[in-house]
Amino acid sequence: MLRIWIPDLARNDEGKKEIPGQVRKDEMTKDISDQIKNDRDAQFYFGGILMKSILVTGGAGYIGSHVIRLLRKNGFHPVVYDNLSGGFKDFVSSFDFIEGDIGDFDKVMFVLKKYDIQCVMNFASFIAVGESVQNPLKYYENNVAKTLTLFKAMLQSNIKQFIFSSSAAVYGNPAVVPILEESPMKPESPYGKTKYSIEEVLKDLTVSDSFHAMSLRYFNAAGADESGQIGESHVPETHLIPLVIRAVLDDSYTVTIYGTDYDTPDGTCIRDYIHVNDLGEAHILALKKLIETNQSDVFNLGNGKGFSVKEVIESVRRVTGRDFKIQEGERRKGDPAILVASSNKVKLQLQWQPHYTHIDSIVATAWKWESQQKRKGY
Ligand code: UDP
Repeated sequence: MLRIWIPDLARNDEGKKEIPGQVRKDEMTKDISDQIKNDRDAQFYFGGILMKSILVTGGAGYIGSHVIRLLRKNGFHPVVYDNLSGGFKDFVSSFDFIEGDIGDFDKVMFVLKKYDIQCVMNFASFIAVGESVQNPLKYYENNVAKTLTLFKAMLQSNIKQFIFSSSAAVYGNPAVVPILEESPMKPESPYGKTKYSIEEVLKDLTVSDSFHAMSLRYFNAAGADESGQIGESHVPETHLIPLVIRAVLDDSYTVTIYGTDYDTPDGTCIRDYIHVNDLGEAHILALKKLIETNQSDVFNLGNGKGFSVKEVIESVRRVTGRDFKIQEGERRKGDPAILVASSNKVKLQLQWQPHYTHIDSIVATAWKWESQQKRKGY
């Protein structure tokens, strides 16, 4: 078995004695690189410590592809498992990647064992609120039934640490904003109910099987990595920022505002937009805490500031300096009027700090990605 040693330059432990049989990553020859590709049992060491392998289901998708890069930067070894229903192979070209479905028990079992997985992060989920109202079974099947299969495989493999992509949709139409983690959970859409259901299952598994999970309730993930290599690319695209940018890039497309009669200052829905890399960094902090303490917890992931649909449209105008076509339309079923997080808990307990706090800075990264990429999500 090959052992690869990645020096931790930040900790200046370059001079540390290498264990015989280890190869320094920066001194790797092409021969050794080829061997690693064929030796799936290769172990990676970071600063002399065995890197923990994290299974990232849905790692080829929008959020997952950002998180795997952050995992690597933080000394973990991400293994991507994705059925490519919403992900892209070119987002994971430099990563260990297995094409598979979380509902495929045998395949998940195989991967968990093969890579000696410490913890699973699950991004393999359907996410469109409107579609979940039209086709709830699709959502319950993937986001609940198949996720239970993943849990069964984890338990059978004695892997009991899990990072769950939950959602602000678990709160439904909140009575009080900003929303605290203790606020009542009253999901309105089937999508929100699937996330709520899994959070409940996780609570039960904590009691029955000493399973430990961090449930991270995402508000509106947006923007893209500054590299311009990865970004939001849903097919079909349903999210506001990419659709407004689509209207900028495509004269024939008119962006529709879903409802202008909400009980908000300008009548349009208010959401809390969080940059995808800020969201990703919260995952790393949550993972480290989980590994360190083995304690389950729940965190809102949002900036704590809301922007209306009309304010997002204005931001895209400012950032791009261009005008585009908009129209006012009916409300979209399942949309609450306001979803804004209280982000005090994640800031206080995980020492998380967002780098992108203004909507324009988030939109600017989305604009860079959308205006550069050839493949369109529509
Ligand atoms: N929205 C809109 N027009 C669109 C897409 C979305 O007015 O073409 C609104 C939507 O009703 C919601 C907000 O923008 O109030 C954010 O929607 P998105 O789908 O981006 O995220 P969600 O909040 O549903 O997770």
